[in-house]
Amino acid sequence: MKRNINIEQILQKLKNKDLEIFDSKIVLFTKDCIVIESFTGKTYTYRVMNYLTGDSKYLFHKKRPVTEDEHDLLENKVKQFRIYGCHYPTNGEEMIRFIFEYVFRIFGYSIREEQIDLSIHMYKTMTNTNISLSDVPVGLGKTHAYLVAVIVHKLYAKELSSKPVIITTSSIELQRAIVKDYLPEISDMLLQFGIIAKPLTSVIRKGKDNYLCDLRLKNYIQNIDPRKKKLEELLILRKIEAQDEIDLDELKGVTQYDRRRISVNYNSCQVCLKKNTCRYKSFMKKVKKPYLDFQVCNHNYYLADVIRRKRNLSPLLPEHNAVIIDEAHKIIDAARQMYGVTVSQRDLYTLAMKAIPKKLKSKEAKQLKAISEEIIKYSNKLFGELINNIPKHIDRDETEKFATVLSSVGRLYLSGIISNLQELLRCEKTDDKRYLSEIRRWIKDLYVFQDWGIIYWIEQPFLNEQCILASIPITLSTDVGIDLWQANDSKILTSGTLAANNDFEYIKKELGMQVTSLSRINQVSKESPFNHKDNCLLHIPDKLPYPSYIDKNYLINITNRIEQLIKASNGHAMVLFTSYKPLKVVFEQLKQRLKDYELVQMKRGKKDAVDEFKKTKKGVFFATGSAWEGMNIPGDLLSHLIIVKLPFPIPDPISEYERTMYASMEDYIEAVVVPKMLIKLRQGAGRLIRTETDSGVITILDARASKGSKYHDQVIESLPQCRLTDKSQEISQFLREKKTEEFFRRAV
Ligand code: SF4
Repeated sequence: MKRNINIEQILQKLKNKDLEIFDSKIVLFTKDCIVIESFTGKTYTYRVMNYLTGDSKYLFHKKRPVTEDEHDLLENKVKQFRIYGCHYPTNGEEMIRFIFEYVFRIFGYSIREEQIDLSIHMYKTMTNTNISLSDVPVGLGKTHAYLVAVIVHKLYAKELSSKPVIITTSSIELQRAIVKDYLPEISDMLLQFGIIAKPLTSVIRKGKDNYLCDLRLKNYIQNIDPRKKKLEELLILRKIEAQDEIDLDELKGVTQYDRRRISVNYNSCQVCLKKNTCRYKSFMKKVKKPYLDFQVCNHNYYLADVIRRKRNLSPLLPEHNAVIIDEAHKIIDAARQMYGVTVSQRDLYTLAMKAIPKKLKSKEAKQLKAISEEIIKYSNKLFGELINNIPKHIDRDETEKFATVLSSVGRLYLSGIISNLQELLRCEKTDDKRYLSEIRRWIKDLYVFQDWGIIYWIEQPFLNEQCILASIPITLSTDVGIDLWQANDSKILTSGTLAANNDFEYIKKELGMQVTSLSRINQVSKESPFNHKDNCLLHIPDKLPYPSYIDKNYLINITNRIEQLIKASNGHAMVLFTSYKPLKVVFEQLKQRLKDYELVQMKRGKKDAVDEFKKTKKGVFFATGSAWEGMNIPGDLLSHLIIVKLPFPIPDPISEYERTMYASMEDYIEAVVVPKMLIKLRQGAGRLIRTETDSGVITILDARASKGSKYHDQVIESLPQCRLTDKSQEISQFLREKKTEEFFRRAV
């Protein structure tokens, strides 16, 4: 479809929503035609123009202008002309092209052929009720790609148009952006072009404790002692009473303390007189109906819906035919949480303490106290035993999942807790249904650990009495596979890192996709839209020491190298480690030596370290953990990414079990360990170039990636194509080509 160049101006005017064109204006937009009104001084003349071809025809003239009420009549007249709809897309694929090439372009978006291909790929997947796996680098616009694919599919597929599409993501930021930015903007553009007849509708779905309960809010406010409450907090609570908003995340200024007291507590709903009229219930009634176009939630909420359907419980989400799983590499982590069971030592203690009555005179009260003490005793013994059984060689800084052994003695302690909880249920006379169902849930959860079909581990063993016993079923992948991929609906999985060197085998296995026919799975990998060849230098030095964090000489060598590398880019760097311990050692050393630079250290549980780095001008960020994938720092501040060690997965009880599924260690390394490492490496490397104008250097300081070494070729292949060097002098040369003088001025 080629648009007549003469109408660029008209469309530009439309983009600016300034419909006056010379002495004319556009009064109607329908399919590929516009109706232009011109005033001659005496009469109003109307012409229809096909904006794709530039062809136009006279319609009529009259003394007074056409009113909005007459637009339907006008449109009917336009439809009688042969130029109407002659170049309008007649099928979904053409419509996707039309939207990207014409509509979006007019509104200032650049056209990316790869993005259009991706959207068509997703559309076709939905048309065939298949599953799509798409590996899409940052900057290509995957969100627009799938939103357009869904909208077009809704236009052309009747069965989809009557049901919402579910979008599930890992981060709340993306959910909010979809609902508050992407969809309203797309809706507006498509409405203006007459592609859709009414605005697109969407909602974010969350767990109930994220919503406001009218009754609890009212009771809470009534019972507040104004002398003990900050006035501003009280005013905020009174203000939200009068508002319509029920999402607590949207109600600014509510403290966490207050939030817990005014959020929905489902057990109260059963007996509440407001249950047909309150805001929460009205909201739930509305979102359970299928009239909204999109329902957006996180992976955990979506999986909770899947699990509830499997157990024949009432679903959380309405009926749907298509699911978009964005940030799909995170769904397996969510599945581990949703299909697994965790038992917290502290929560068990709290539950047991709750059983002790305030007055201990009666026989029943004394009995409850004795039961409670037994639960705490067995709990302490169980967790003590589990901590004792952690293998001595495990480095506490390297893992969060500590292998342990639930020995026969441990199982006795476990039985002791369960039988005392059962006794508690028998003796407890309270009518607090929530508490009683909590005890039942504990019994059910603890029973899981008596099963042999689980992988289990403990977390936080070194935090006093805050140990957590966790498990997942050994059949997790198959369970997820059966629940997600056997259903006869479309699933679009997309992420920046689903494939390792364009190979999806690892993720397919992890997600149990073998349960479905391979012919249902469509895969696509896209190249980064950014010009890495010009804007990125990959530096992998020769003669590096073999990485070993416990080797002092290695740490000295690597610290010296990092110092030189930081100087080469005059700061502006992130040094990415695979664990906290070496990070701390190197940071402490360099803090003494690089006094001219602002060094920022990431610490466990310290959430504001990224913000601290962002505030520096030419700082250096020593990071690990979530920094491998969750950071977005466009611009010059991050111009040198120093990857200290290839991010091979750290062995944990899950990987230990996975290993037993392979005939040999070599097979396991090839099928799981290397793909995992390459995916994480790509995630880490992706922190550097975030926009078309970004430039910088990636240095990899791992001998296993050096030229001629075992993983050199796979490492190079997994990263975007860019200039490669083993000479550190080239770092400064490259950056001098790309950056201004200011970049090289001394940091502090
Ligand atoms: S029905 Fe439930 S959410 Fe609604 S006011 Fe009553 S207790 Fe609160």
